[in-house]
Amino acid sequence: MATKLLLTFAICRLIVTVGLTVDPSELLRLGVEGQLSVDPYDVETASLDFGLISRSEPMAVLHPGSADDIARLVQAAYLSSQGFTVSARGHGHSINGQAQTSNGVVIEMSGRSRGSRLGSGNLAKPQVAVKEMHVDVWGGELWIDVLRSTLEHGLAPKSWTDYLYLSVGGTLSNGGISGQAFNHGPQISNVYELDVVTGKGELMTCSEEENSKLFHAVLGGLGQFGIITRARIALEPAPQRVRWIRVLYSNFSTFTRDQEHLISLHGKPSTLKFDYVEGFVIVDEGLINNWRSSFFSPRNPVKISSVGANGGVLYCLEITKNYDESTGDTIDQEVEALMKNLNFIPSTVFTTDLPYIDFLDRVHKAELKLRAKDLWEVPHPWLNLFVPKSRIADLDRGVFKGILGNNKTSGPILIYPMNKNKWDQRSSVVTPDEDVFYLVALLRSALDNGEETQSLEYLTNQNRKILSFCDDAGIEVKQYLPHYTTREEWMDHFGDKWEQFYRRKMEFDPRRILATGQRIFNPSS
Ligand code: FAD
Repeated sequence: MATKLLLTFAICRLIVTVGLTVDPSELLRLGVEGQLSVDPYDVETASLDFGLISRSEPMAVLHPGSADDIARLVQAAYLSSQGFTVSARGHGHSINGQAQTSNGVVIEMSGRSRGSRLGSGNLAKPQVAVKEMHVDVWGGELWIDVLRSTLEHGLAPKSWTDYLYLSVGGTLSNGGISGQAFNHGPQISNVYELDVVTGKGELMTCSEEENSKLFHAVLGGLGQFGIITRARIALEPAPQRVRWIRVLYSNFSTFTRDQEHLISLHGKPSTLKFDYVEGFVIVDEGLINNWRSSFFSPRNPVKISSVGANGGVLYCLEITKNYDESTGDTIDQEVEALMKNLNFIPSTVFTTDLPYIDFLDRVHKAELKLRAKDLWEVPHPWLNLFVPKSRIADLDRGVFKGILGNNKTSGPILIYPMNKNKWDQRSSVVTPDEDVFYLVALLRSALDNGEETQSLEYLTNQNRKILSFCDDAGIEVKQYLPHYTTREEWMDHFGDKWEQFYRRKMEFDPRRILATGQRIFNPSS
């Protein structure tokens, strides 16, 4: 009874606010298994994201109890004469309101993981098929829970993000990258099948073989073509342990040459390559700057001055090798043979050894440290760029040693290369037009501590300057986790792929009601 009243209230609110001309009793008859909520806590949560930069209040929040709930809601939105928008929200870890909507319903996909008291309780837990080496997961499942479930069977997904408290549907809508991408491709290259609710409210299964257009559209599709309710993800035998190594460089071209050499080994047998290749730019040792680099300090702090940083900047190559205890006797030789070909500063080898799950979940530990100091829930004006290999040195000169100047202490700056041939060109993602491109991720936090150079305004301005610098210098970067506000910018972002993106949108979400927080399309009335 209480549920019905709440639902009626939510629907009345939709009717008043967006002129929805649907008979409320019709929506009540949708009979969702979960719950449509207007609870202020739910609405407030769905209004915000990790970026803490934009805020948009939905009319109501759906805690789905099943994929059918999502299909019913989207169909109601599609068929209503005025229309209302529907945005899936994974774990709300976007930066610029990509999962928000102001005139519709947000679907909280990851409710169960957060122990929500509303809905989501009956959603299927990850189903591991050991023989087939895959796992079927709910679209809102967090990667940490996928990992825990598959490890029970000695298996694990192959391709990761650095941080595991992200949803499957959220990362598959973008790409999903980490240091394994050079070898296995992004997460979107490691999916066999999806269940998707399209913008017409149809629940469809898709894969390379079945409804392939929808499958490729949705992967990296920024939530524009449908809501992923199930993903079938490729697995491999889970390694037991990880040898995790960091070495330093003061010379940028030596650093990138070594990174590019390591990712060129992707086709070799596993004993002859690393399993993970990343890197970052080091500018100082403050917690906020290096929250991802815990194992340098405090036990083995790096003094930048002591290793002769060139212009105050050091580059850290981060590599790992997975192994099992039974084959542990060869790991030292394998690592040594690979390291022999690298040209890092000899005195700067930092090594640690840990269980596989601890390595994969490393950023969560950093999160807990920042949370303890109230440094996690702050604005995050992050900027992620894919940079063509041929122009990465220009970025070093113009950005790391140029625009960032001496005020570089606001967060980690990741830099690592990937092989384009590991990205399926049929997906919706766009990457630079070169065989190798870099991720450059400026993961900065804005602090309200009176220091101008750490303010949101200052950092946002710097991001603009970086984008203008790339534009002026003709560096054809592509934003990862893109944020644009005009149609022209989006068309420019997608380039040759725009026409196809637009056609797919008209086919799968003709009323443009899905994921409007991306600001690519306006809903039609
Ligand atoms: P949300 O932010 O909730 O949603 C993102 C978009 O996807 C929205 O448009 C939303 O409508 C849509 N969406 C969400 N769920 C679905 C679904 N089921 N079906 C269809 N559309 C959906 N990314 C990397 O690739 N590698 C990293 O190493 C990495 N590390 C990160 C670390 C931190 C601390 C943070 C905050 C982010 C990181 N990210 C990384 C970025 C992350 O991939 C994005 O934030 C991504 O959007 C996933 O977050 P989410 O699950 O919270 O999705």
